[in-house]
Amino acid sequence: MYNITLIPGDGIGPEVTDSARKIIDATGVNIKWDVVNAGASVYEKRGVLVPDEVYSSIEKNKIVLKGPITTPIGCGFRSINVMLRKKYDLFANIRPVKKINGLVTPFNDIDLVIFRENTEGLYSGVENQRDNDTAEAIKIITRKASMRIAREAFIYAKNNNKCKVAVVHKANIMKLTDGLFLDCVREVSIDFPEIELQEVIVDNMCMQLVMNPSKYEVIVTTNLYGDILSDLCAGLIGGLGLVPGANIGNDIAIFEAVHGSAPDIAGKNLANSIAVILSGAMMLNYIGEKEKSNLIINAVHKTISEGKYLTKDLGGTASTTDMTDAIIENLR
Ligand code: ATP
Repeated sequence: MYNITLIPGDGIGPEVTDSARKIIDATGVNIKWDVVNAGASVYEKRGVLVPDEVYSSIEKNKIVLKGPITTPIGCGFRSINVMLRKKYDLFANIRPVKKINGLVTPFNDIDLVIFRENTEGLYSGVENQRDNDTAEAIKIITRKASMRIAREAFIYAKNNNKCKVAVVHKANIMKLTDGLFLDCVREVSIDFPEIELQEVIVDNMCMQLVMNPSKYEVIVTTNLYGDILSDLCAGLIGGLGLVPGANIGNDIAIFEAVHGSAPDIAGKNLANSIAVILSGAMMLNYIGEKEKSNLIINAVHKTISEGKYLTKDLGGTASTTDMTDAIIENLR
């Protein structure tokens, strides 16, 4: 039996994590879910954003499936999501973006994985108001963090028979920070001579991705560029409701969708839960349940290609629960 922490989160979080949990349970994998919550809804009820039981559950179970969390302004936290990534040193944010047959999108051959550095860069939280009219943010890039995310990307490429890794940067302008990141990726690439290193400046990457995304297999980049490119790539395959993610550290891993809490559709049974379902599949793969992980991925692809139970964001009229039931049916 696996003990896994489940954080429903805010907005559509409870709906999409409930859907994912039902599907994961329907595979027959033996999971004891430890449900704890953090974020705006907890703050309203208890006046605390992250109750102690959240930390103790994460530290005990080490594996977490998480919904999106909203951080209210003025509560002492910049972002709970960013805080958790930093606190547990979840240095690799891994986001696979793959075309799903059945959805009409501009390209048919997108299959790439973004490796986003998850602990520093412009998310370091060093922001100052110099005077009334001047604010500054400091971008921190370290050799340690850059080397480990680069190595993670190359190891993934090697283990998954990928031929290319693209490093995305702006070292022509940010010569010291992005320059250091680029140098680290180049250094790591020397250990993987069979894998081609593509060096792409971030603005050019945006254009390349919307014109010819199949040129890329693995992308490794800094924190903010990784965040922006993830949403861009989500748009290429049909939207934010489809892209899963993993935040991996040395001993703790948190699995969550790329999307946020989508307050505009919360509580209406309209949300697309596929991003969290596929995050759950990544989680099963991570804990060694590869067969069950593949079962879920195949059921999601089958449900989408049948086209009968699609949520509104995918052009259908199905509710979250209709789509969940259809995926469970397709597990069999
Ligand atoms: P954050 O800053 O917290 O990442 P965001 O500003 O990127 O959030 P989201 O909450 O991700 O915003 O939502 C952006 C848009 O995408 C909204 O219109 C939302 O309704 C839609 N959206 C996001 N996730 C889903 C989903 N799972 N199903 C359907 N629509 C979604």
